[in-house]
Amino acid sequence: MKSVAVVGANLAGGRAVEALRTAGFEGAITLIGEEPWRPYERPPLSKEVLWDPKGSTDELFLHEEAWYEKNRIDLRLGERAEALDLSAGAVQLQGGKLIEADRILLATGGAARRLNMEGADAVNLHYLRTLGDASRMAADLTDGARVVIIGMGVIGAEVAASALKLGCQVTAVEPLAAPMIRALGPQFGHWLGEEHRRQGVDTRFGCGVVAMKVVDERVTAVELDDGSQVECDAVVVGIGIDPEISLARDAGLKTSNGIRVDRQCRTSNPMVFAAGDVAEQDGFFGGHIRHETYQNASDQAAAAAMAMLGQEVDYHKPVWYWSDQFDLNIQFCGHIPMDAQVTVRGDIESNVFSAFFQSGGIIEGMLAINNARDMGIGKRLVERRLAADAASLADADFSLRDLLKAPR
Ligand code: FAD
Ligand code: NDP
Repeated sequence: MKSVAVVGANLAGGRAVEALRTAGFEGAITLIGEEPWRPYERPPLSKEVLWDPKGSTDELFLHEEAWYEKNRIDLRLGERAEALDLSAGAVQLQGGKLIEADRILLATGGAARRLNMEGADAVNLHYLRTLGDASRMAADLTDGARVVIIGMGVIGAEVAASALKLGCQVTAVEPLAAPMIRALGPQFGHWLGEEHRRQGVDTRFGCGVVAMKVVDERVTAVELDDGSQVECDAVVVGIGIDPEISLARDAGLKTSNGIRVDRQCRTSNPMVFAAGDVAEQDGFFGGHIRHETYQNASDQAAAAAMAMLGQEVDYHKPVWYWSDQFDLNIQFCGHIPMDAQVTVRGDIESNVFSAFFQSGGIIEGMLAINNARDMGIGKRLVERRLAADAASLADADFSLRDLLKAPR
């Protein structure tokens, strides 16, 4: 293999080119990204960047600009890949230029899902995916501003916490009964909803938005399906992402809710690989799953790089992610099985606790609140599919580490 083209220059794309060079690959690498910025980290966009929009963004970037030159990465920013020409082994850029490559990695992630109603393009209605989105949003999250958040997934919940910190009056609208309920399950979704309420968010859970009132291109009020109306100065929409599968789909690669890859991160065409938010793989607990998390984008991209180099790769991990809201560090690993038996370790009231989700005794998921230490071991428990009795898990004096001594 003499050349690699990577489409998508954010976390997965950036980590892949880094891994290729670290592994000693000497061939040509082209990294194509539609955004104007070199690869950067998105997690601070809903936190630090909103808190201090005038602060330095230097720390967001994976590498300094000079790193790409030093490592002979042909970094093509502000350029969109329009098509894959698989018979020619090339990526076609907007304007027609062809980048030929022996291997192609698709790290195209996803775009914020748009609201489908009048007002969705208003100047004070914000989505959050890029650095530019965060800067625009920050300008509207001023002290006293009335902010309506539509969708209480991770973006909604993190921005609600940041907006409160900035002195905004926050109303959160979510059709489900609690925030992040799909990720945390009903018990801890409701617990988190209570935290938001306690901190001062006006929570309108179980409510949908039916219309928005727009005056001079600004949303001035949001109308809910319970008949109420919430006046606002700004709206934040966090209703999920649409994976950027179009290049793969149009080239005839296997796609569904993502680009299908095997455990080598290889698509249905052996010269094309995919990694990060856009890649759909066999899930650790069954099914086909796309993970939309930092750690997965980073690790899966490194695995794809090794597979492109012809090394043995078997990428098959339970998901792990974190979220920071108020003074809560939330970490989750694995999944919540349908028949989950839930065991709490620690005191929920104190906001320092863990919860285990078991099926047939096997620990398939773990939540840690302000308890990163437990999660350090919990990740390994989930990965090894270890069994434990609930009474031991609930006993704060019982060492979780002892469970790791069980034979594999
Ligand atoms: P993306 O980050 O979506 O990058 C894909 C890139 O490809 C984009 O730059 C896009 O412009 C480009 N692209 C797409 N199509 C083309 C094309 N045709 N041509 C050229 N370029 C193209 N995860 C956590 O675990 N913890 C957190 O606390 C956390 N916080 C987050 C906060 C925010 C505000 C956001 C938005 C995400 C957060 N995440 C967090 C998720 C994490 O950032 C993502 O999982 C990660 O960014 C995925 O990386 P990716 O490279 O796969 O995709
Ligand atoms: P999520 O998928 O986490 O949440 C979207 C939420 O919006 C869900 O509760 C969803 O409900 C709801 N929703 C969907 N459609 C509507 C609608 N029309 N009106 C009102 N609510 C609706 O996506 P986010 O937008 O929160 O996050 C986007 C991306 O950013 C994800 O990839 C996420 O992983 C990433 N991110 C990760 C963070 C972290 O890990 N800490 C922090 C911030 C962002 P339903 O489930 O019923 O569709």
